Amino acid sequence: MSLAGKTAVITGSNSGIGLGIARALAGTGADVVLNSFTDGEEDHALAASIAEEFGVKASYVRADMSRGEDCRALIEKAGACDILVNNAGIQHVAPIDEFPVEKWDAIIAINLASAFHTTAAALPLMRAAGWGRIVNIASAHGLTASPFKAAYVAAKHGVVGLTRTVALETAEEPITCNAICPGYVLTPLVEAQIPDQMQAHGMDRDRVVREVMLARQPSKQFATVEQIGGTTVFLCSDAAEQITGTTISVDGGWTAL
Ligand code: NAD
Repeated sequence: MSLAGKTAVITGSNSGIGLGIARALAGTGADVVLNSFTDGEEDHALAASIAEEFGVKASYVRADMSRGEDCRALIEKAGACDILVNNAGIQHVAPIDEFPVEKWDAIIAINLASAFHTTAAALPLMRAAGWGRIVNIASAHGLTASPFKAAYVAAKHGVVGLTRTVALETAEEPITCNAICPGYVLTPLVEAQIPDQMQAHGMDRDRVVREVMLARQPSKQFATVEQIGGTTVFLCSDAAEQITGTTISVDGGWTAL
């Protein structure tokens, strides 16, 4: 399938899932706008390498997704936004009565409010173009909870609610809005945790992955960034034209439990 001629803006895309999605979309011919809050040479080099590898236009725009005005400026600077992927996210783990207020505020801002701002800024561009796809990267934690993740679980449930609302507001237009709910995905950040977990639990890699990290993922396999990228491409395809306001779990059966 070809998304040539479309421009995709992917928030939080200089690593992990966002980068995987950007590469998957570029692989279909879409131009991509990468983003994070840093402005390093390596960020711009990443965009240049995607442009070269896939023969598309790729740029990097610094914008801090914890700031509403930055979120809106990202869409403005992108110039076009046919596909919006709200992916930027952070995590903090603590019991609710000890949860640092600044962490709560940051998680709600980056993981939830940013999607409100980017969507509000992108919809007029999608309407003018007569086509749009919004893909929100929620989580299994958008559908279920875990202790000590109050802000993350609240924000991801919020993303699912926002997804449904945007879908209803755009239902009669050629625009769809859906959420992907990944379980545990093998990103560089997750990979880096494995040696520490092996040491902490005195287990080998296979056992720590099966019994500790993927304790709630029945498949006992991580999802991959390529699979999340592929699901995003599917949601942008013609086959998904009537799919809107829903969630797609990529979680190895986590939410079937
Ligand atoms: P990651 O840390 O590799 O990527 C997060 C991205 O967000 C990075 O590019 C980072 O630079 C960016 N980011 C962080 N704060 C930002 C800010 N203030 N402004 C702009 N960008 C910012 O993590 P990831 O695992 O790739 O996570 C991506 C998304 O997928 C998140 O929303 C996360 O909640 C969700 N998710 C991840 C998993 C998993 O197992 N890895 C599972 C379910 C959902």
